Amino acid sequence: MLTQINGLHHVTSLASGAQTNNDFFTKVLGLRRVKKTVNFDAPDVYHLYYGDQTGTPGTVMTYFPFPHARRGRAGTGEVATTGFTVPKGALPFWQERLAVFDIAGIEKTSRLGEDRLMFRGPDGDGFALIEAEDERTAWTANGVPEAAAIRGFHSADLRLSPRDADASAELLRFMGYEKQGAQGATTRYAVAGGNDANVLDVTVTDAPRADQGAGSVHHIAFSVDNREAQLAVRKALMDTGYQVTPVIDRDYFWAVYFRTPGGVLFEVATNEPGFDRDEDTAHLGEALKLPSQHEHLRARIEELLEPIVD
Ligand code: ZN
Repeated sequence: MLTQINGLHHVTSLASGAQTNNDFFTKVLGLRRVKKTVNFDAPDVYHLYYGDQTGTPGTVMTYFPFPHARRGRAGTGEVATTGFTVPKGALPFWQERLAVFDIAGIEKTSRLGEDRLMFRGPDGDGFALIEAEDERTAWTANGVPEAAAIRGFHSADLRLSPRDADASAELLRFMGYEKQGAQGATTRYAVAGGNDANVLDVTVTDAPRADQGAGSVHHIAFSVDNREAQLAVRKALMDTGYQVTPVIDRDYFWAVYFRTPGGVLFEVATNEPGFDRDEDTAHLGEALKLPSQHEHLRARIEELLEPIVD
């Protein structure tokens, strides 16, 4: 069993409009945009990052907004819901706030003893705010008080078909996730001694396969401290038979990718060097940052990208 994985690093999803996406995460949910860059593999598409003050691993929700993208269809073989932790007693504030912003799908539920508020993002994305103990310092902005502000990720929900359930559970255990409990068709796994975003809930269902589009999670990334830990994880996965990409430089972290038996794209990302490597913390996320290999295309890229008004 691996011991290097801390929990989630970031969650990356697909969106349609960049402005709508930006407004939802900053003005409704009160997160900080910590990086405005482009998809390194398709530099005419933004890559927007939202998180806490510095984009601490375990707090970072990221998006590729494709203008006019068609919406994804929910199903199996995907991350169905991304969960954020909020302080105990914060859900009534959020229930009212989300209603004021006309957010879809607001529904209060509970799972494994935790109250959660489910809702939909602008492209139908599945989110939950979950009340839990959490020592992380929140970014507070746009009228969300400290007593209610999002602390970072709580968990991600994997929705899997029954035929992928056993192999996926085996993979999670190999990655260091241990079974913590179950409710109905959902089993909870957590990394002991991990970061505060160390929970994965796996729901097994007969639903058809998901069709990825706007509102779908593209991949989830798991945090490791450094490149040495990442290489150890990569080698162990490959020794187990997984096809893992070479290490890729994403400027703010180093990444490797592989697919789960259920077809979900997993990434292992380093906590180093971080989002403040090329910007002052005070101005994080304000300027359009381009990786050096695309810097010569800046004028063309700026022309192609939908302007974002903050
Ligand atoms: Zn990623």
